[in-house]
Amino acid sequence: KQPIQVIGGGLAGTEAAWQIAQAGVPVIFHEMRPKRFSPAHHTEHLAELVCSNSFGAMASDRATGLLHEELRQLNSIVISKADEHAVPAGGALAVDRGKFSQDLTETLSNHPLIEFRRGEVPAIPEGIVVLATGPLTSPDLAADLHRVTGIEYLSFFDAASPIVVGESINHDVAFMASRYDKGEAAYLNCPMNKEQYLHFWTELRQAEQTEIKDFERETAKFFEACLPIEEQAHRGEDTMRYGPLKPVGLSDNRTGERPYAVVQLRQEDKAGQLWNMVGFQTNLRWGEQKRVFRLIPGLENAEFVRLGVMHRNTFLNAPQLMHSTLQFKQRPTLLAAGQLIGTEGYTAAAADGWLAGTNAARIALGKEPLTAPPTTMMGALLEFISSASPKHFQPMPPNFGILPDLGVKIKSKPERYGRYRDRSLADLASWKNQF
Ligand code: FAD
Repeated sequence: KQPIQVIGGGLAGTEAAWQIAQAGVPVIFHEMRPKRFSPAHHTEHLAELVCSNSFGAMASDRATGLLHEELRQLNSIVISKADEHAVPAGGALAVDRGKFSQDLTETLSNHPLIEFRRGEVPAIPEGIVVLATGPLTSPDLAADLHRVTGIEYLSFFDAASPIVVGESINHDVAFMASRYDKGEAAYLNCPMNKEQYLHFWTELRQAEQTEIKDFERETAKFFEACLPIEEQAHRGEDTMRYGPLKPVGLSDNRTGERPYAVVQLRQEDKAGQLWNMVGFQTNLRWGEQKRVFRLIPGLENAEFVRLGVMHRNTFLNAPQLMHSTLQFKQRPTLLAAGQLIGTEGYTAAAADGWLAGTNAARIALGKEPLTAPPTTMMGALLEFISSASPKHFQPMPPNFGILPDLGVKIKSKPERYGRYRDRSLADLASWKNQF
């Protein structure tokens, strides 16, 4: 059999290479380190955790915990080694990062069907290929991806606003409307009076920012058009009111009055469970974002599935380019996984890697590629990234907001999340029986 080429020995590539080899198909596994390092990686080992050592909450009625459990059921090598090298971290699955990465490196190097090649791959090769080069894909390969996909299908910078769970928004305060009543009412609007606006403006200017890394400062220069919300606040009392918080064309249909300022939220997913805060890209610390953004009327109890970020991040416009099987629409023998396709976080990368590797092997063996059930966290994430609006596509972490509705209203959150978990694991078990 012709070997499958996996490019990138991060979280996604490691899982993909292992699944291919376990299916009996040979793999050529490329990793550029230690010959070349990304600005965030420091070791030569596989699946290096570039920042935190945590894979997120462990309980299976939490979003990442459910994804861990699905991956355990699917014999993921990344989660099995994370379990083996876990260190105490409250309710989170955190690992001894050195032992974790070293063990994975040895385990994969010892697999008879995996041939390790150290060195950068500058262009996408022929044959069956899994791309898993992550948010800091090397410049040459990024340029080749650019060429293959077209400029509007690849982003180099992630200036994302926070995403809020719809049902945590106070609908007694927020109202649906589009500016000047154009078309269908498409935005949720959080109105502010002058006093509320000035209080918000003051707190925003005082909130603490994250440290910007040098390599990110370089990229950020190109994005003057996309100013962080706190930078707008620093520029003057009314800057935000002439920018994303402008109230023109928006009157509160309950009072008939135009608010002093308005924060708008745009629907993020097809089901309308997730709402994106328009124009709120930010460098504030995560705790500060929660504190300050909850001062916005209607968002007092906002639950955030993703907080705002501004950092270097190479990612594809997956909804435009890919199927939920992780195959490219234009070239079904090319698959991709990890942060490169716009899922976010270590666990999500392992999950995509699992499916991309499994499907690459199935293609080599003449079998139909698989689609994960949309009721599982893995399936919901991949359904999201392959069907979201291409126009506003931004990376997405695992969260319950992307799962299909349960069909019954359950008020208690732990109970609802428990039901999501039970449904997911039951559907995963019957899916597994089919292959
Ligand atoms: P990576 O793990 O980055 O793996 C990609 C691999 O491809 C790397 O080993 C790289 O060397 C290699 N590579 C790149 N180009 C080439 C090439 N041309 N040829 C050969 N090899 C190549 N997520 C979290 O869950 N928690 C965090 O705390 C966190 N912090 C982060 C901090 C930073 C600074 C960044 C950039 C990201 C962070 N993330 C975090 C997101 C994180 O990158 C992903 O969750 C995860 O690492 C993605 O896995 P991946 O396999 O897609 O990419």
